[in-house]
Amino acid sequence: MSAFNEMKTSNRVLMGPGPSDANPRVLRAMSTPLIGHLDPEFLEIMDDIKAMTQLTMQTKNPLTFVVSAPGSAGMETCLVNLLEPGDEAVICIHGVFGTRMADIAERCGAKVIKVEAPWGTTIQADDVKAALESCNPKLLAIVHAETSTGVLQPLEEISKLAKAAGVLLVVDAVTSYCGTQLKVDEWGIDALYSGSQKCLSAPPGLSPVTFSQAAIDVLDNRKTKVQSWFLDLSMVKNYWAGAKRAYHHTAPVSAMFAMREALRIVLEEGLENRFARHQKNHELLRDGLEAMGFEFLVEKPYRLTMLNAVKIPEGVNDAEVRSRLLNEYNIEIGGGLGPFAGKIWRVGLMGESSDANHVNILLSALKTII
Ligand SMILES: *Cc1c(COP(=O)(O)O)cnc(C)c1O
Repeated sequence: MSAFNEMKTSNRVLMGPGPSDANPRVLRAMSTPLIGHLDPEFLEIMDDIKAMTQLTMQTKNPLTFVVSAPGSAGMETCLVNLLEPGDEAVICIHGVFGTRMADIAERCGAKVIKVEAPWGTTIQADDVKAALESCNPKLLAIVHAETSTGVLQPLEEISKLAKAAGVLLVVDAVTSYCGTQLKVDEWGIDALYSGSQKCLSAPPGLSPVTFSQAAIDVLDNRKTKVQSWFLDLSMVKNYWAGAKRAYHHTAPVSAMFAMREALRIVLEEGLENRFARHQKNHELLRDGLEAMGFEFLVEKPYRLTMLNAVKIPEGVNDAEVRSRLLNEYNIEIGGGLGPFAGKIWRVGLMGESSDANHVNILLSALKTII
């Protein structure tokens, strides 16, 4: 008899840093029978996804599409296409994901000028201004919602600095997209990537991205080939160009079915309602945790609603509590990363997981464990 039994996973309640719970409608869409990725019906699905991504990103950018790979590949798509060897790039670092952007930019052969802030705080506009004046950069990259620390980074002032310096603004919106206000056009963002599995609540593995005309101009004026074949936008963009579509790679058809349904759900709810729901459930969790004596890591105005970073109380065993939550209550929460390993928990209330029942079952489980 084979040892490989039928797959069975537990019914987890996903309250970590992603993936979040998926709506049953999204899971059903994913089990739709396959069609070919060049089928005219699939072309319509891609067009719908593109149009709904533009609406949810609040942009009219024609070059808006979904990379067939996770958020990190969206990050890499933005950087490998916009940077060439010898370029200078100002990269803001206040957590794991800024660090990752700097690593990718260096691999592109760019000279990286870092603007840093202590983990758990925001990047300061004055520091960005000083960095932009100290060099001749092509782009400025920053994380909008630092999932490793729970910090919401204000972008409007930094966008003005980027515009004044004539540099492209690249934004990581993996965790903020569909969970809090994000206005690509109004905020002057030139390149932005997100992920499917956070506040959009689609399965992991896709990365919606968008590029402004200024970013396309930079692309069109490259002197060297993009080092990545798969992520080279000069080819990928034709794949998403409606009726003119040319074969590039085989799209993850089932994941795109799920993505389309997840976007429909966001638009049915309405962006403002969705942001308000994330705020409300964050407050419910905050009040419950504070009543138990927990403290938040981040100062109030800069807290993410969809990713709550709380300090682990003295005497509480991080690994033991998280494994009991998982094994006895089927609840997943996230641990700390880097300097915060063992010091904080990261409680995700993203998309479908931003829900009063989720908050209440976590609070009652914690009360019995701690
Ligand atoms: C999750 C995340 C990423 C990476 O996304 P993957 O889908 O895990 O590759 C990048 N940036 C931020 C801010 C994230 O939260």
